[in-house]
Amino acid sequence: MRATMMRTPLSLNQLLERAGRLYPESQIVSRRPDKSLARHSFADFYKRSRKLAGALLAAGLKKGERVATLCWNHHAHLECYFGIPAAGGVMHTLNLRLAPDDIAWIANHAKDRFLIVDDVLLPLLEQFRARVPFEKIIVFPFSGAAVPNEFTDYEAFLAGAPEAFDYAPHEEDDPVAMCYTSGTTGRPKGVVYSHRSTVIHTLMANQPDHWCLAARDSVMPVTPMFHANCWGVPYACVMMGIKMVFPGPHLHPEDLLSLMAAEQPTYVLGVPTIWISMAQLLESDPQKYRLPQGVRMLVGGAAMPEALIRTYAKHGASVSHGWGMTEMSPLGTVSYLKPELRNAGEDEKFRRLAMAGVPAPIMDIRLIGDDGREQPWDGVSMGEIQVRGPFIAGSYHEVATEPEKFTADGWLRTGDVAAIDRHGYVRIADRTKDLIKSGGEWISSVDMENRLMGHEAVQEAAVIAVADAKWGERPLACVVLKPGKAASAEDLRSHLAGAFAKWQLPDRVEFIEAIPRTSTGKFWKVKLREMFR
Ligand code: ADP
Repeated sequence: MRATMMRTPLSLNQLLERAGRLYPESQIVSRRPDKSLARHSFADFYKRSRKLAGALLAAGLKKGERVATLCWNHHAHLECYFGIPAAGGVMHTLNLRLAPDDIAWIANHAKDRFLIVDDVLLPLLEQFRARVPFEKIIVFPFSGAAVPNEFTDYEAFLAGAPEAFDYAPHEEDDPVAMCYTSGTTGRPKGVVYSHRSTVIHTLMANQPDHWCLAARDSVMPVTPMFHANCWGVPYACVMMGIKMVFPGPHLHPEDLLSLMAAEQPTYVLGVPTIWISMAQLLESDPQKYRLPQGVRMLVGGAAMPEALIRTYAKHGASVSHGWGMTEMSPLGTVSYLKPELRNAGEDEKFRRLAMAGVPAPIMDIRLIGDDGREQPWDGVSMGEIQVRGPFIAGSYHEVATEPEKFTADGWLRTGDVAAIDRHGYVRIADRTKDLIKSGGEWISSVDMENRLMGHEAVQEAAVIAVADAKWGERPLACVVLKPGKAASAEDLRSHLAGAFAKWQLPDRVEFIEAIPRTSTGKFWKVKLREMFR
């Protein structure tokens, strides 16, 4: 017997068409470099995205060719998310926090043909422009200043697009976007998303126990639009007609709080480091700094300490914690309380919310131990997380398939070590390369960091492995104290002693000014290891 259902291709263009027809009045707010706010309606967004597509086609863009973006979070970047695929092109978001050499290498590797860049980022472009043969550079006048003559003005480019526009025909497996992994080991690698993978990820990630975004919401993505497609959230906002509030280049917690006070987002997303510094402001003057009542927060990309989730709860926010990676579009797990845990005590609830959460649907997940065998979901047995599914990369762009990233039976090796309990909650212990092996036993740096960040004097903590003649490796804790607070290494060791065995406690505690950040705003452990080698 055969199923009788139609086989129509999944397409981002359907989301754009729907947004234009059903939600013309929804708003897009973008903070400009001078901190003023630009306001656009979805009607503008719909028209301008199609104009961008028409202009790219008129400029000769061919199916599958790459259009790079080097932009902050704002409405024009959102137009690229939809306009470039509508023309049959592939949006390639360049990470503006990388070194110019790395950006040039990535743009050349991806063979980016056109570039769309913010005018305020032209000084960065100048540092690598000579090394990348972009055929056309289109400058978005984000600051409002006139675009230098040598470039194409984004607004003039749109205005010059032909009146009539037809979407470039496509199959659902055709590419729409690409991102490079940050390449902490070796060169960065390109992940290429398709119409199909993006639509399925959007439907999956917006389930009620996950993002649960509805037309009544308004969303402020602090996550950069150049990192893992802003976790895919802009696609869900367009699908559901949701107001978006873009912070532009102003990511200081004070700026974010003032934007939140003005626009009252109901949902905000970003990596833990952003929320660590914001929590400090909230705590310093709760009268002056306030969160929108009941705001929901999606925190991921690195472990969110339980103490911080509690702090936000005190300020009226509810946090859900997600784990994922660029290769996974990126969502893999989200923390929420499953029905069997709704009556659990407060401590148990916070403990659960601080875990990476429950695996998303429409993908398979397994834990593989050191012996190559699948590990039970008992909350103790540890193994590498491996995943497979329709929104998970099965290879990298123009890289020979690497056995260390993909298994012979078709799973992606995430490089994250975790335990999963009988309720399905995933607890990430470490990245494989960050695990600390002391005297043959593993110590989880994530668990130790979380405990340290629960100490009242500690603002940030990162734990790394340092070589040791006797034990192989020993943990070293790098700690940033809160302003005006004090704690000694001994205080911190006693604080840890409640949760760790004596042999696990760090011998060295280094008090530092700040923990270095990666290009995506996470604690940069490679740098710390260099500093304390
Ligand atoms: P990168 O961090 O290398 O810039 P990604 O954003 O793709 O690139 O990072 C994915 C990695 O981030 C995961 O493999 C995992 O190690 C880490 N990660 C993501 N979310 C979490 C989380 N909630 N808890 C702990 N680690 C996380």
